[in-house]
Amino acid sequence: MLRKPVRDRVLVGLDAPARDAAISGVVSVEGWAIAAGRVRAVEVLVDGKRLGWAAYGAERPDVLAAFPQLAMTARCGFRYSLDCYRLGDGKHMLTVSARSTRRGQAEMSQEIMVGNRAGVPDSCPLCGSKRVNRRPAWLAGRYRYHICRACDVGFIYPIPTAEECQVYYDSAYVTPERAREIVREEPVRWDAAELHQLIARYHPTAHRVCDAGCGTGTLINGLAKYGYAVVGYELSQVSSAVAREELGLSVVTGTLADAVGARFDVVIMRHMLEHSPTPLAELADAVKVLAEHGILLVVMPNRRSFPARLYRGAWQWFVVPAHIWHFSWRTLSWAAAHSRLKPLHHYTRKGDALLLAHEWLEIVAALRAGNSRKQAAARRITPFYLPLAGLLQRVAPRLGRGQEVVAVFAKGAPGKR
Ligand SMILES: [Zn+2]
Repeated sequence: MLRKPVRDRVLVGLDAPARDAAISGVVSVEGWAIAAGRVRAVEVLVDGKRLGWAAYGAERPDVLAAFPQLAMTARCGFRYSLDCYRLGDGKHMLTVSARSTRRGQAEMSQEIMVGNRAGVPDSCPLCGSKRVNRRPAWLAGRYRYHICRACDVGFIYPIPTAEECQVYYDSAYVTPERAREIVREEPVRWDAAELHQLIARYHPTAHRVCDAGCGTGTLINGLAKYGYAVVGYELSQVSSAVAREELGLSVVTGTLADAVGARFDVVIMRHMLEHSPTPLAELADAVKVLAEHGILLVVMPNRRSFPARLYRGAWQWFVVPAHIWHFSWRTLSWAAAHSRLKPLHHYTRKGDALLLAHEWLEIVAALRAGNSRKQAAARRITPFYLPLAGLLQRVAPRLGRGQEVVAVFAKGAPGKR
C-alpha cells in the first residue's frame, strides 16, 4: 500500500492499478482517503485533466487498523472505473486528489502504461488479412470476439495459449467416471452411418480411417462396424484412455503431428478445428497423412447458421475458451484452399445441436441468473421461441444455415483429381 501524507491532515493512498502494470480496456482505480474532518471528494485526473470523481465510502478496515490513533471511519475506500479507451496508448500520469470539508487536500500520482492496441488484433490470426473489425463484436470474460471480413472467421482474442486451453479442459471437461458412463450408454455415435455414406460415395475403396480429435472414440467405434481399419488421435488423456479401455480401440494420446509415416484413406476432423489454436497446422498435418486419393471429412459449428446469428454470444457453441474459432463455409473453404485441399461436397445440418432443449434451458437460466449477454438474447427471442425454433430446425439446413457444416475434401490442388 502506498501513501503520502501532505499538507493539512488529509492522507490518500492508491492501491490499483499497480505501479508499472500495463493496463487496457476498463480498469478499476482503487484506494483510500482519510481526513481530520471528512473527505468531501476524490477526483481522478490523467495528465492533469480531470476525468471524474471516484465513488467514496467503501469499507477499508485495513486502513482503520493502520491508523488506530485517528478517530475516523472504516468507510474510507474509493473506486473509479477508468476507461482506457479514452486515453491514447503509452505512458500517462494518473492522479487521485482528495479534498476534505476543512479545505485540506492531498494527492497522489502514479505513472500508468496504457496498451489498448495490445488487446486488438492487427490482422486476422487465421488468414492474415487486415480486414478485422477493430471494435469487438462483443466481450466474453477476458476475451473479445472479433470477426474477419476477408475469411469470415469469428474468433476470441487474445487467442488462448495451449496452456490456457489445457487448464480449461482439465477443470471443465468431464470426469473419467462420467466419460466411461457416457461411452457405455452410447458406444456408437449417431452419425457414424452418415459419415460412412460420405466415405462410400467419395472414396469407395477407402479402408484406413483416422479420426483426429476422436474424443472417446464412439465415432470410429461405429465406423469399424463397416469394416474400416480405424485409428484415433486424441489430446485428452482421459478420453483417449476411455476409448482404449472401454471400446478396445487403437487411440493415440496426441495429435496427427505424432502420426509420423502413417497413411490414411480418410481423415475425419469432427468438432476439432474450432478447438485448436492453430487450425491451419492441423489441416497441413491431415494433408501429410492422407494417402493418394485420400479424403478429409470436416464437421464443425457453422457461424452463419440461423441460431448462431440469432443468439450471438449466447449461442450454444460459443464456448469460451474451448471454441477459439467460428467458421462459416466461406472460412472453411478458404482454409482448405490454403492447405491445397479441393472441396468435393458440403452441406449444413442440425447435427449435434439440441436447438429446442438446450437453448430453451439456457434462456430460462439466463433470465434467472442475470448474465447480461444471455439475457439480451433471451429478451430478443423469448416471445417467438418455440415456434421459431421448431421452424428453424427444419428449414435452416435446407438453406445452408444449419448449425453444423459438413464438408468433404480431396487431397491435391483443384483440377488434379
Ligand atoms: Zn481472416
